[in-house]
Amino acid sequence: MIDLSSNIQYVKGVGEVRAKLLSKIGINTIYDLITYYPRNYEDRTNIKQIKDFVLGENVLFKATIMSKIVTRRIRKNLTIHSFFVGDETGSIKITVFNQNYLKNTIHEGKEYAFYGKIEGNILRFEMNSPEIVPVDKIFSISGIRPIYPLVKGITNNYIISLMTKFVNDKLNINDILSKQLRDKYSLEDINKAILDIHFPNNYDSIDKARRRHIFEELYLLELALMSIKKSNVKLNGIVFKNIDVSEFMSNIPFILTNAQKKCLDEILKDMNSSKVMNRLIQGDVGSGKTIIAALAMYVAVKNGYQAAMMAPTTILATQHYEDLSNIFDKLNIKTDIITGKTTKKNKKEIIGKLSKGEIDILFGTHAILEDNVEFNKLGLVVTDEQHRFGVKQRMKLTNKSENIDTLVMTATPIPRTLALTLYSDLDISIIDELPKGRKPIKTNAVYANENMESRINLFISKHIDAGRQAYIVCPLIEESEDSDLIAATALYEKYKNETFSKYNVGFLHGKMKNKEKDEIMSDFKNKKIDILISTTVIEVGVNVPNATIMVIENAERFGLAALHQLRGRVGRGEHESFCILKTQSKSKTSLERLKIMESSNNGFVIAEKDLELRGPGDFFGIRQHGLPEFKLANLLKDMSVLKIAIEAATETLENDPNLEKQENKFLKQALNIKFGNQLDSINN
Ligand code: ADP
Ligand code: MG
Repeated sequence: MIDLSSNIQYVKGVGEVRAKLLSKIGINTIYDLITYYPRNYEDRTNIKQIKDFVLGENVLFKATIMSKIVTRRIRKNLTIHSFFVGDETGSIKITVFNQNYLKNTIHEGKEYAFYGKIEGNILRFEMNSPEIVPVDKIFSISGIRPIYPLVKGITNNYIISLMTKFVNDKLNINDILSKQLRDKYSLEDINKAILDIHFPNNYDSIDKARRRHIFEELYLLELALMSIKKSNVKLNGIVFKNIDVSEFMSNIPFILTNAQKKCLDEILKDMNSSKVMNRLIQGDVGSGKTIIAALAMYVAVKNGYQAAMMAPTTILATQHYEDLSNIFDKLNIKTDIITGKTTKKNKKEIIGKLSKGEIDILFGTHAILEDNVEFNKLGLVVTDEQHRFGVKQRMKLTNKSENIDTLVMTATPIPRTLALTLYSDLDISIIDELPKGRKPIKTNAVYANENMESRINLFISKHIDAGRQAYIVCPLIEESEDSDLIAATALYEKYKNETFSKYNVGFLHGKMKNKEKDEIMSDFKNKKIDILISTTVIEVGVNVPNATIMVIENAERFGLAALHQLRGRVGRGEHESFCILKTQSKSKTSLERLKIMESSNNGFVIAEKDLELRGPGDFFGIRQHGLPEFKLANLLKDMSVLKIAIEAATETLENDPNLEKQENKFLKQALNIKFGNQLDSINN
């Protein structure tokens, strides 16, 4: 049996120089080589006749050399050999540069197989430097040929030739997936899967082989994540006592939905136990996450601890502070807020009170992560709209709070399977129900010609006359795009001075000073502004129930998930709400995409559709989650395999928590090689 870990350098035909090049593409051992998968395939399964040639195509064909091989030496390093070949249907001129050995290996009157690109012109086809083999060796240049990612100095044919040394039906490596597992999930044996991914007989066998390799990658990842999570469960957490929340509830004008109750139960169970809570609340926009966080903080405070609640923007932090301090004041719970705009003096004062325990709940942006903010007895930290925080900030937070319970909230709908992987360090609660009585937001995606524009504007006026308010959002996705800002400003001027000159029109964008933003936001809340023109700074969390109209300009420039977030700014009160998605794009697909928004109000459904349409692309910056790179797997495209990988990994660890059984011997080795010392729990 070949030793797969042996250095590629000592393989015949490699040597030091090539080994260095191969190392650049990650091939250091024979194992690296055989798991260096093709990025694509070239279909050379059809043998063509010369009469069927099409200019520009690559073709495989059989033909006989029909003329003398003429050799001309053009200059020192350039010799040209040319000859005609033909089959029953026609002939074509072939030219080969240099390759002087051909003189001795090919002969007039004999039949060969050729593979190359058809060049020349429609009147006269030619072929330059094709691959040429005797006709009985046609198999060596035909079939479905792997195309590998290359590096300068290494050709595809070279990799193929190396590969054929090891990848053939004699390959006999140990399968890290047990037979039971392979049978259960219809996965191929590793040797067949490696053979088929490099040298497939047909496209179906490529799919099967890929599925097996993708499963393996994801299964290993899930096993690793699950083990890490298990070892991260800290049992030195605060054990909060159960608290009667009826006094709190009597201060809010509604009762919790069943989904909210379930989520609260999950939180309280964590808080009541010695397990350190690390929980993510995922809930669609408007599902009522804030009140759940407030209840958790209430329980912490009633237990004699302090709590902190962070939001990604000053606007949001201020809003939480204003809304919740209303309730907490009545309960005699002391709150305060620190943001980027808090003055030094003020901040010092707050920090002083905080360290003496004179503040129970501190609100703020991530400025409250700064090191000099010291709590007296911090017990719970809540982070709102967590997707806006980087992983680093998340880490910083948990570091600050050794054994402190944390709760993070997000409205970004991620399919559950994916959330389990991306947030594998967190437990997940889902609020999958909106409060009763919410009227669904009526959405219209429209092509905004002049006539439509005036109808929309009339519609807005009508609702403002009835006492409502409206948002008009302009795309300014990167807050640094000046041209977008100029366009948004121009639109604002037009709306303010012409279209809606009767009304109070405000303008909010990311480049404003925080103080200015807050003033405008509070003017809008207090109804001093009727129509708020805004860039996406209002995307998350903002809550103004009297605003019932959301108009989005150039809606085609947003992803559906972002549109859904924006739409979630309305439909928050008793009045019927509307969302108008305007586009000037003539492209049929962009209007079609926007029409999806008309038919669904469910963030999860929309996110999945968006994924299908736009592809994974930059979906929520998966990269920044610090997961390892895969050779083949793609978390989004391979969601169905990810699902079974999660299921399989869960079962495996249930049956054999430390992977000690004989059938998991190779699996454990593979995990250790791949994830090494991160896996203390498996290794004990
Ligand atoms: P999100 O989950 O998007 O952060 P919020 O927490 O801002 O949503 O809640 C949206 C609105 O719904 C708020 O005005 C909130 O007071 C209200 N709300 C929350 N829970 C309920 C409920 N159970 N019944 C009625 N209204 C609720
Ligand atoms: Mg919110």
